Amino acid sequence: MTAVPVAIGVRSVAAPAGADGALVDTHGRVHRDLRISLTDRCSLRCTYCMPEQGNEWLARTSILSTDEIVEVAEVAAGLGIRTFRLTGGEPLLRPDIVDVVRRVSRIEGADGPVEVAMTTNGITLEKHLPDLIAAGLTRLNISIDTIDRQKFADLTRRDRLDDVLSGIAAAAASDLRPLKLNAVAMRGVNDDELTDLVAFAMDVGAQLRFIEQMPLDAGHTWDRASMVTREEILAALRERWRLDPVPGRGGAPAEKWRIDGGPHEVGVIASVTAPFCGACDRLRLTADGQFRNCLFSNTEYDLSGVLRENAASAPADRAEAIAALLRSCVHGKLPGHAIDDPSFLQPARGMNAIGG
Ligand code: SAM
Ligand code: SF4
Repeated sequence: MTAVPVAIGVRSVAAPAGADGALVDTHGRVHRDLRISLTDRCSLRCTYCMPEQGNEWLARTSILSTDEIVEVAEVAAGLGIRTFRLTGGEPLLRPDIVDVVRRVSRIEGADGPVEVAMTTNGITLEKHLPDLIAAGLTRLNISIDTIDRQKFADLTRRDRLDDVLSGIAAAAASDLRPLKLNAVAMRGVNDDELTDLVAFAMDVGAQLRFIEQMPLDAGHTWDRASMVTREEILAALRERWRLDPVPGRGGAPAEKWRIDGGPHEVGVIASVTAPFCGACDRLRLTADGQFRNCLFSNTEYDLSGVLRENAASAPADRAEAIAALLRSCVHGKLPGHAIDDPSFLQPARGMNAIGG
């Protein structure tokens, strides 16, 4: 292990690197996945994520350019990042989304070509999908919490279910597999249609993954009682199907179960009641250029500052400055998110501004 001095604002931090330069934290976790938020803007206003109005948007001038994103992704790939997940806000709102996918997917990582995945609300996906696939997109997660039109309009504050369904249909007709659908389970909102959502996913050849609602809404209104737990989700599904655990989860956030012996599977991401921090291999980059080592962290590592400070530096020096900041971010990662700790403080940013 070598020590790398890193300048972050006024602080100077010694950040060790793995023997092969890989991003290994002080708890031995090797980081392979970087989630890049492309914008904090969105076409929906999901209640668990954004306020209905009055959101404080990131300044447009602070949003990383495509050149900056590609430069950072190249450095990250050299440090062992294998998967880049493009997210937001709504990534399809970014006008140059196809260009971002094309340029990131061309990056050769330390272990071969990188994977470019996307999490989207599906709106405008039907229109964009052929270009995204041609540009190199390899995996897709589409969020859909309800297939009831009125509930969708209430939950997202926009009457756009048909657009999402068109996006899902386009993805189902494509070769992108596995195709995953994400649903946040909410008491009194969609907890009566959990099996319907799974049946819908099976019909379109996708895998449904339920997510426990996390304290990441911009309005800070989360409370544990309205969260539907992993156990409750499984109990509801078991009333209709036999579920057998799928072994070999690795670092994946979702635990999976085979439905009635297969081939269909369903997943649960139980970040609150069964956290998987011990195997977490993910890092995040916000749209305004802040590295984060955890969704729930209150510390950010100022990539924008590093890019500005090194604006006139040689490309190799800029790359080393970016690498040093990434290592520092990884070095500062805590063993777990501590949602259950009485001292837990919800991050100031909502999920749309962090990048889910
Ligand atoms: N707009 C895109 C979408 O909705 O798929 C990408 C960004 S969104 C922040 C990524 C994922 O985070 C979505 O699946 C969404 O359901 C999930 N999410 C947002 N807020 C959440 C919360 N408070 N708890 C759990 N999941 C949340
Ligand atoms: Fe937009 Fe995704 Fe947040 Fe919903 S969850 S408001 S679609 S960013």
